[in-house]
Amino acid sequence: MKLIVDRMLGKLAKLLRIIGIDTLYSNKTDFKELLRIADKEKRIILTRNTLIKKQERTYRFLFIHDNDPIRQLEEVIIGLNLTLEPVKAFTRCLECNHKLEKISKEDIGGMVPDHILKTHVDFSFCSNCNKIYWRGTHYEKMMKRLEGFGKHTKD
Ligand SMILES: [Zn+2]
Repeated sequence: MKLIVDRMLGKLAKLLRIIGIDTLYSNKTDFKELLRIADKEKRIILTRNTLIKKQERTYRFLFIHDNDPIRQLEEVIIGLNLTLEPVKAFTRCLECNHKLEKISKEDIGGMVPDHILKTHVDFSFCSNCNKIYWRGTHYEKMMKRLEGFGKHTKD
């Protein structure tokens, strides 16, 4: 599943990338451009723009109601019936959506602080923007919270 979010949903885009969903973020004010990319790349549009409802019926989109990024993520998981796959988490760059590659500690050199290097095992690398990622406590907490999402809607 591929998604594109409008410029109101930048934080949501990062959360979706954390759980491994291919998510483009458009900061363009021109909504037509977002529609054009969605159409070309077959992406589902996540938007807070109420005008799209009547404007473009041919596109697949999900209207996001909440202001809080975590609750927005819950809306997406329930609305699109997403299954969380822990193996897919941390496979995308939070900044640019590029696929991450595994990188060994030896190759990291001075690119992350020593205490991070000592206390973490898995590191990934974005070859597009040269960022290094690791699974930190913030990530663990978020995944715990996400595990409960959608469950109360089922019997
Ligand atoms: Zn990147």
